[in-house]
Amino acid sequence: MTTASTDRYICVNCGYVYDPRVGDPMNAIPAGTRFDELPEPWVCPMCYATQDQFDPLD
Ligand SMILES: [Zn+2]
Repeated sequence: MTTASTDRYICVNCGYVYDPRVGDPMNAIPAGTRFDELPEPWVCPMCYATQDQFDPLD
């Protein structure tokens, strides 16, 4: 079974897209980290929105 690693999430507040293939270098999140694996205090690196303000990007 192949795991799709392209499940990106978009910040509804500013439009920032979290791509698990890239991670979030600004917050020391390594590439390959799924959105649901992000640490609890992680917020949008652009506007500091909390994780519940992100929607799946299909
Ligand atoms: Zn944002």
